[in-house]
Amino acid sequence: MVLDRLKLKTLEELWETMPFIPETMLQVACHPDDFAQTLAWLDQDERIFGTFGVHPHDAKIYDDQVEASMRQALEHPKAIAVGEAGLDYHYMHSPAEVQKEAFRRQLQLALELKKPFVLHTREAEADTWEILQEFKSFPFPIHVHCYTASLEFAKKLLSLDINLFFGFTGVITFKNAGDIRTVAEYLPLDRILTETDAPFLAPVPFRGKVATPAMVEQVVKALAKIKGLSPEKMAEHCRRNARKCYGV
Ligand SMILES: [Zn+2]
Repeated sequence: MVLDRLKLKTLEELWETMPFIPETMLQVACHPDDFAQTLAWLDQDERIFGTFGVHPHDAKIYDDQVEASMRQALEHPKAIAVGEAGLDYHYMHSPAEVQKEAFRRQLQLALELKKPFVLHTREAEADTWEILQEFKSFPFPIHVHCYTASLEFAKKLLSLDINLFFGFTGVITFKNAGDIRTVAEYLPLDRILTETDAPFLAPVPFRGKVATPAMVEQVVKALAKIKGLSPEKMAEHCRRNARKCYGV
C-alpha cells in the first residue's frame, strides 16, 4: 500500500527515499491477496518480517481455504505472527458475528502454530474482552496494534495473564489525542511498542501525507517526551520490547 501510494515500484526504492532508515520493517499481510508478494519480500530482503492474517474488515472472506493459505504462509521462518486480526465496529465492513468467528479461529490458529498475535480492536471493547476471556491463558505475546481504546480498557488488558504489548502510531502526536497520551503515560515501559500503520496515520508534522515506516521516528520522539526519556533511550526500550514480543 505504501509503494502504491508513493507510486514506487520496488521495495528498494522505498528504502532509498526514506529519510530515516529503520533497522527492520514488519509487513502486515492481512488479506490473502497480499500473501504472495509478502512472502517474496521475506525471501528477498533480510530486513523484512511478515505477519499473515485476515483483517476484521474482510472477516466475511474467512473460510477453510483462506485458513489453509495462512497456514502455508506462516510456515515461512520470517513469518513471525498471526494477524492483524480482531474486531472493528467502526466501519462494520463485515457483520459482528462474522468478525468474532474469524477472530476466534485466528487465535486458535496462532495457538496451534505457537505464534504471537497482532490484535486490531476498534470500538469493540466489550466483544474483544469477551473473546480474550475465552483465550485468557494464551501463552504467546499479543501486540494490541495502534492502541486507541480507553485507559480503562488498557487496565483490564494489563490484568490478563497474557504477555501483552500496546502499539502506538502517529496518532500519539495528534493534537486531539490526549487520551492516548494518557494511556502511554500510564503503561509500564516494558509494554510499549512503536509502529506507523503506514501508509495511514502519518504523524505531526506530516499529517495528510503518505506515512512510511521512517515516521516511526516521530512516534518514538512523542513517546520519549511523555515518558521523560531521551529518544535514544525510548527507542532502546521499544526495540527490546519488539524483540521480546516477536522473538527476533
Ligand atoms: Zn489495524
